[in-house]
Parts: sequence; structure tokens; C-alpha cells
Amino acid sequence: MISGQALQNFGRNVSFRPRTMYQPKSEAEVLSILDSHRGSRIRVIGRLHSYSEAACCEDVLLDVRHLNTVRTEQRDGRVWATIGAGCQVKHALVELERQAGVTLPAVGLITEQSIAGAISTGTHGSGRHSLSHYIAEVRVATYDTESGEPVIRTINAGSELKAARCSLGCLGVIVSVGLWVRPQYCVEEHFRRYEALADVVAAEEMFPLQQFFLIPWRWDFWVQHRREAATSGNWQAMIYQAYFFAVMEVGLHLIVLVLSKLFRSRWATHTFFRRLLPLTVIRHWKVVGKSQDMLVMEHELFRHVEIEVFVKRSKLDNALRVVKELVSYFDGDIKTLSSVTAARMEQLGLLDPTDVATYTHCYPICVRRILPDDTLISMASSDDEDSYSISFNCYAGPSNLRGFNRFSEVLTRTVASLFEARPHWGKICPMDASTVKSVYLHLTEFRRVSTEFDPDARFRNDWVSRLLFVEPSKEA
Ligand SMILES: Cc1cc2nc3c(=O)[nH]c(=O)nc-3n(C[C@H](O)[C@H](O)[C@H](O)COP(=O)(O)OP(=O)(O)OC[C@H]3O[C@@H](n4cnc5c(N)ncnc54)[C@H](O)[C@@H]3O)c2cc1C
Repeated sequence: MISGQALQNFGRNVSFRPRTMYQPKSEAEVLSILDSHRGSRIRVIGRLHSYSEAACCEDVLLDVRHLNTVRTEQRDGRVWATIGAGCQVKHALVELERQAGVTLPAVGLITEQSIAGAISTGTHGSGRHSLSHYIAEVRVATYDTESGEPVIRTINAGSELKAARCSLGCLGVIVSVGLWVRPQYCVEEHFRRYEALADVVAAEEMFPLQQFFLIPWRWDFWVQHRREAATSGNWQAMIYQAYFFAVMEVGLHLIVLVLSKLFRSRWATHTFFRRLLPLTVIRHWKVVGKSQDMLVMEHELFRHVEIEVFVKRSKLDNALRVVKELVSYFDGDIKTLSSVTAARMEQLGLLDPTDVATYTHCYPICVRRILPDDTLISMASSDDEDSYSISFNCYAGPSNLRGFNRFSEVLTRTVASLFEARPHWGKICPMDASTVKSVYLHLTEFRRVSTEFDPDARFRNDWVSRLLFVEPSKEA
């Protein structure tokens, strides 16, 4: 037990001090902690890689990093995996391959997260569902609603499962998850540049796993075409990965750091993206490598903060237009907004001419496709269309984040209102209850399931209570 220790998330934009923190080593220990803290408010952390207040806790905190076993078994000719909640995704990938030559059905851009943390915020990559969608069993430590005793409940069907797949910690302490895993596979990748979004989206048919970047200040698209490959990895992949690491993961980020933290000149930023960045990208070089080597990047190397908004496929084109407009407006590259955007911002109380020239965006804007999730509140939860996530990284130091935070708020609320965009639960998330209610069609069902599991709201923090459980008319 640790008392009064201050904790900070990866981005250092969120900190909190739980009254008491535990690192249980077994499920029995989790139950015993619940037993001795009846009546307390309890939260769980994974690896604190969320930029939102999702993990914040003032009372009793469980860090479940020691619940990290990975077990695979053959069932009906397929491989089933049971993964301890605190197991980091990177550790799960290694163990799955070692034990049974299998891998996860989806991964995000990094693998530092715990598996429970990743699913609890709807973590996703490109061209698949989010990881949450694939979870077929969740075991949760909670209080029995009749006896009040701590118990472990197994959730594997119906609305309960859809809620548990992405629950922001609201159902209780996840102790393990179960899912069908797939044989390890290879991915082929190459870069290409496009002028028109329609051509980028059309290419998904040939390259279903692709992701692309809208390059600020050039406003063209650089696409990482990706698809599963029948061939196995080739030696070129090792050279490609070394190039990618040195030039993109390290070189690009060092330049962005200099531009964001030291130099902070609009002209230099624009010039870098317009003229120099394209020289660093090798186009049309096709390589094939193991799935996780190709799909994962090293975004955790340099500390930063992020926002990410999700729109349906039919709204992507217009949403990217407004993204370009707002990025240019905050930079001062344009001084006036289109009448539609300005009118909506005015209606939302967001139109403020002093925002012009307060924030220069300095990072490629990453766009990824996520197939519809069968969940209640993951960002890609949908009964029909694919979603596209649009993400913005900022490398300014904590003291210079004001411009980015204001940009995040204006962008998120404007695209939520215009395009029903949903911000990522695990990234900076400037939402209010009425916006959440308007963009999540299954919120009422999520509340019903959560309240059935946790009628006294012991597993909620103020942030989830405010966003998910307060009726908008009662917002302060
Ligand atoms: C550099 C970087 C890159 C990223 N890239 C991506 C990406 O490519 N795609 C993407 O979708 N996201 C991405 N993210 C976001 C990240 O995947 C999510 O924020 C994820 O939730 C972090 O996992 P974590 O283990 O750190 O969880 P935490 O941040 O510690 O917790 C997240 C939430 O899960 C809950 N939780 C954690 N464990 C449990 C448990 N055992 N039981 C109940 N609730 C629990 C917490 O209470 C909290 O609400 C990135 C984040 C960073 C910092």
C-alpha cells in the first residue's frame, strides 16, 4: 500500500494524488482490497498513457501491472487468449507469438498501454475495428449487487459485453480479458503522395490497412499504403525500419521539437513542411515485415500531447476542410472563417478573433480508418459506417500549451457540432455532457449496464460522472 503519492500521465498534462494506492499481485488480493474499501471510490490505472482525466483518482487506486499473465489454448481449431488486465500490449504480443505463433487482431500506434487500459478507451489502429471490438470476455471485480460482497463477474454476451469492451473503468476492476487471436501475419507497406482525398479513400480497396497524413502548410496527403502480404518479411524491411526509425521517429521529431519549443517561428514551420519534409520520405519503396513491426511506431519516444476526433466516412471530406480552416485560422494564415464555420462557432460561443495567430500546428495530421465497433461507447461504435480518426500531436512544453488547448477545445466542439465528431476518450477530450449525449446513440444503454454493475457509483471518478452520467440539463 502506498499513501499520498502524486502521479502524472505520460503527457504530463494530468496529475492527481490518490489517498491510497495498491499494486495487487493476484485476483484474490484485488478482492481483498475491495473488501477493505467498501464505501470508498475506487479507480484503476494501466500505464497512464491517457491524456484525458480518465484515470484520475482522489481516493483508492489500483495499479494492476502485476496481473500480467498471458495464456493461450486451442478451442475449436482456433486460438483463444486470456490476458491479465495489466499486461502491456507489447508483452502480450511477444507472449502470443512465443506460445502459439499468434497475434492480436488490432494494435494502436504504440504498444506501451496495458490491455485493459487500451480497451477501456477504445484504442485502435488503422483498417480494423478498435481493439475493444474483438474482446469476447471480460472478468471484472466488483461488488455483488445482492450480498454486497466483492466478487469477480464474467461478462461474455449481450449489452454487458458491449459495455465492458469500452467502459472507462465504470463497471469495476477488470482483472483479465479473453479474445480470439489470429495467426501472425506480414504487412506490405509503401508511401505515395496524393492531391485529392477521393483518390486516397479509393485506394483503401487495395490497401485496407493504410493510414494517411494530411500535411499542414502543404495540404496534400501522404499515404502509408498497407495490406496483408502473402509473402514473409524480406531483408529490405530491416533497412526500411532502420531508415524509418532514424529519419521519421527521431529526425522528424527532433526538428518538430526545435520548431515547437525553441524556434517557434511560423515561417520556419511552414517552410519545413512545404519544402523539407517531402525530401525525407522515400516513395514507392515496397517492403514486407512482421505485422507489429510494420503497424507500430515509436510515438512514445518524445513526450507530447494529443487530440483525436472521429467522424463517419460520409463526413470525412467536410471535416478535413474545417480542420484545414481552423488550423490556418489559429496560425494566422487566414484571418476570416467561412460563413458556415463562423456561424456555428458563434452559436457555440467559440468565435473569438483573438484566437488568430495563437497556435501554429507543427505535426502531420494522421488519419486512420476504423471499422464499425460492436460496443456502446467506443469512438468507432457504429451500426453502419466506418469511422475515420483525425489526430493532432503537439510537442510544445507544458508552459506553452495554452494555444494548443484552446485550439483543441474549438476544434473538438466545432466538429462535434457540425459532424457529430467524437473525441478520443484517452486523448485531450474537451467535451461536455450534452455533446456526449448527442454523439453517442447507445449512451443510455451504457448507463443502464454501468448502474446495474455499480449502483453506488463507487468505480466512477468525477470526470466520467460529469461526462457520462449527468443529464445535460443538470450540468453546472
Ligand atoms: C504516445 C501515445 C500514443 C498513442 N497511440 C494511440 C493509438 O495509436 N491509438 C489509440 O486509439 N490510442 C492511442 N493512445 C491512447 C492510449 O491507447 C489510451 O489512452 C489507453 O487507454 C492508454 O492505456 P493505459 O494502459 O495507459 O491506460 P490508462 O491511461 O492508465 O487508463 C485508461 C482508462 O482505462 C481504465 N483502466 C485501466 N485499467 C483498467 C482496469 N484493469 N480495470 C478497469 N479500468 C481500467 C482507467 O481507469 C482509465 O479510465 C496513445 C497514447 C500515447 C501516450
